[in-house]
Amino acid sequence: MTPFRFPNPQAIDIAHLLVNAMDMEGGVGLSAPQIGVRARVCVVKGTPNLVMFNPKILDQTTEEIELEEGCLSIPGILLKISRPRLVKVRFTTPSGKIKIDKFDGLTARVIQHEIDHLNGKLFIDYAKGLKKDFIKKKMVKIRDRLDRPKTGIYMEPIPREPIKSAAVIPEFTPPKPTDAIITIKTG
Ligand SMILES: [Zn+2]
Repeated sequence: MTPFRFPNPQAIDIAHLLVNAMDMEGGVGLSAPQIGVRARVCVVKGTPNLVMFNPKILDQTTEEIELEEGCLSIPGILLKISRPRLVKVRFTTPSGKIKIDKFDGLTARVIQHEIDHLNGKLFIDYAKGLKKDFIKKKMVKIRDRLDRPKTGIYMEPIPREPIKSAAVIPEFTPPKPTDAIITIKTG
């Protein structure tokens, strides 16, 4: 996806749209393509929420941590994924200001997940071997249940009802420092 160009009066509206959609679905992050908006922007839950236009990872630690991830666009699948513990990110705010910041913990994890979305990569792409086969089969089941077309499930708008009834996705609980594995429900 091409970079979002500034100045752009739509930036603020897109930011609100994304934050509202993320809150409605109870996620900790969301990228624009997931709700059918073709813009290189994502949001990350926080105080305040982070809105990142054209986010780019400039640097990252070689140290990685393994966390369990889920995705609002792919209900019912959780995967343990190793990613860098800390990332340095350049992004543009909705008002057009360029910022460079370092993030760790859950925020770093969600940012990496959402930037993957903007690059057309899904968390299930990290799965290997038998796990990948299992997920492919499960994806077909999800698609059939939602009565969706055979292609394009990844980038379609979030289905409303199926997500709410997907009891398999646990509620997000803030990670405790002592937890080796935590569960994240991201966009
Ligand atoms: Zn996602």
